[in-house]
Amino acid sequence: MQVYLDNAATTPLHPAVIEVMHQVMTKDYGNPSSIHAHGRKARTLIEDARKSVAEILKASTGEIFFTSCATESNNMALKRSVIDLGVQRIISSKTEHPCVLNTLAEIKEEYPAVEITYLDVDGYGNIDYSQLDSLLSSGQKTLVSLMHGNNEIGTVLDLQQASDICATHDALLHSDTVQTIGKLDIDLSQTKLSFLSGSGHKIYGPKGIGIIYINNDNMIKSMIRGGGQERDLRSGTENLYGIVGFAKALELLYHEREVHNQKTEALRQYFKTEAAKHIPVVQYNGNQDERYLPHILNISLPKTIKTDLIMFNLDISGICASAGSACSSGAERDSHVHEAIQSDPDRKNIRFSFSSQNTTDEIDYVISKLKDLID
Ligand code: PLP
Repeated sequence: MQVYLDNAATTPLHPAVIEVMHQVMTKDYGNPSSIHAHGRKARTLIEDARKSVAEILKASTGEIFFTSCATESNNMALKRSVIDLGVQRIISSKTEHPCVLNTLAEIKEEYPAVEITYLDVDGYGNIDYSQLDSLLSSGQKTLVSLMHGNNEIGTVLDLQQASDICATHDALLHSDTVQTIGKLDIDLSQTKLSFLSGSGHKIYGPKGIGIIYINNDNMIKSMIRGGGQERDLRSGTENLYGIVGFAKALELLYHEREVHNQKTEALRQYFKTEAAKHIPVVQYNGNQDERYLPHILNISLPKTIKTDLIMFNLDISGICASAGSACSSGAERDSHVHEAIQSDPDRKNIRFSFSSQNTTDEIDYVISKLKDLID
């Protein structure tokens, strides 16, 4: 049996997304910058996609830009805020995705005057909102960068609270919403953000396409120079089928989000119930009662000779999951997220992440294999 429980890493394409992309690949192949009919058709497809994304996020179309991925969007928001908006301090957290953390490290090197501060997180990965509030009371021009949903442990930020605190102190707020866009409600007319990023391949859409929302009040400039595409914000011939695929994927997920979340929530709960019956030593990382992502379940097992090889053995059994660890110089160590939440070093962390297509039979199979591997 093949079981794919790594949907936080990437999702399969929705068949309706493949269909619209196929149409564009085969028929609507014009260059959107061309003024002839083929070009005009391509331009219309892009502007329709932008309008659809903007409507879902309750933003204006002029605030949505297509990029190559969320990594690019995050790099752009962080770096260009320093260059174009005179940001003197960035406040973030140690549980952000590496594309944020590594960009912050580079900013520190390139712009030593910019102060970078990391908020404390508790053992579940929640930030301390009062610490954010008190840090912001000093008057430097500040950008706060906090992810909406953590991709490893699933802990969810209270975006409204973070936004309210930033608004009180006139700070900019960037949020990496890669794991939440289309799944959780994000209403930019209510929740004020300066920047937001999203990625196609986490929402049953294609790889190689992302978005950045840039609020009109804090417009930045392009990181890439060229022909001035995306209103001079992101030069390079547009990834037309990616853009159309992104918009379609977001529309489908957004309109089905309640059903989608109920399905993943039911699978997550089923996993926990069965694990409690058959693998009593199991524990969980990240929030479990509230403010968690229904599609992510991060478990921990005692470290033994057997569990040390668990990822390898799951793979041999046809099960795709993700380790909460990174391999560096041949030595396995906990991921930066597990380090930040101070996970028990004597336990082995594994992330299972669900799609609406997974089944309880698949979970039964995973639990039985996990049980065999640790017994
Ligand atoms: N941010 C988060 C929270 C993610 O989970 C990922 C993907 O792993 C990224 C950013 C990067 O997205 P992309 O693959 O589009 O660069």
